[in-house]
Amino acid sequence: MQLLEKIQNLKKERKAVILAHNYQPAEIQDLADFKGDSLGLSIEAAKSNAEVIVFCGVHFMAETAAILSPQKTVLLPEKHAGCPMANMINAEQLKMLKQHHPDAVVVCYVNSSAAVKAESDYCCTSANTVEVVNSLGKDKKIIFVPDQYLGQFAAQKTGRNLILWPGYCPTHVTITEDDIKKAKAEHPAAIVMAHPECTEPVKKLADQLLSTSQMIKFVTKSTAKEYIVATENGIIHSLKKQRPDAKFYPATERALCPNMKKITLDKIITSLETMEPKITVPEDIRLRAKRAVDRMIEILPSK
Ligand code: SF4
Repeated sequence: MQLLEKIQNLKKERKAVILAHNYQPAEIQDLADFKGDSLGLSIEAAKSNAEVIVFCGVHFMAETAAILSPQKTVLLPEKHAGCPMANMINAEQLKMLKQHHPDAVVVCYVNSSAAVKAESDYCCTSANTVEVVNSLGKDKKIIFVPDQYLGQFAAQKTGRNLILWPGYCPTHVTITEDDIKKAKAEHPAAIVMAHPECTEPVKKLADQLLSTSQMIKFVTKSTAKEYIVATENGIIHSLKKQRPDAKFYPATERALCPNMKKITLDKIITSLETMEPKITVPEDIRLRAKRAVDRMIEILPSK
């Protein structure tokens, strides 16, 4: 309780807003002003009057907040909270890929560095990848980075032939076909919800392929009482809050992102006290990265 009070006081003093991704530990989700997916959170933060954004998530998310809110100070309470998938491609690698396909447009998943976004034409989230790809002319060649599994999902849904980068999320690929079969055998009435970052065999067994924000919306409308959840297990806290009457089973207890769990209450306090670690994006990169994000928002103003 003392820690929570201290955070509230520091938050007022610094005119700060606290954002927590759906995969954050439960106590951090509970104290946040906004919870959600990375882009939704950054858009909320940009709209708010706060002077400081405390991003409880991973590095690329704090960068996205900095891209959209250049006049605000963005803090990531644990500077080593990175995303292995985002780190699987850098700007130089993307430039080389573009040289091999000079006539292609680049769509990058929001789970990418600001420098990679700056080299991209369009950004997308797991909730709107299909719409972003569909919005591009049928004759357009498309490079999709960095997640091969989200890319495969978009290719199947749109019938387009995407040039994929072999990136992946180590947390989602830890979920196996056998995990789903076992969970289904134990809970035969449960609906299987899987994130598009999961591998193909897992997705084939799912009833619903949904982003984190779509999972939350889905269970709010669904009348089913049991769900098997194939994504990072932190989301189960948010799902239970939406549907206290329903049961949520993780596809596997292994689906935990160690980077998402690096943020603690103590680190939030230290960060607000010291105003470090700050996440900044050089202005030339920020402007080019923002162009890719803005194009996505223009295609889908309400998503
Ligand atoms: S869950 Fe996967 S994609 Fe998300 S931050 Fe962790 S490693 Fe990156």
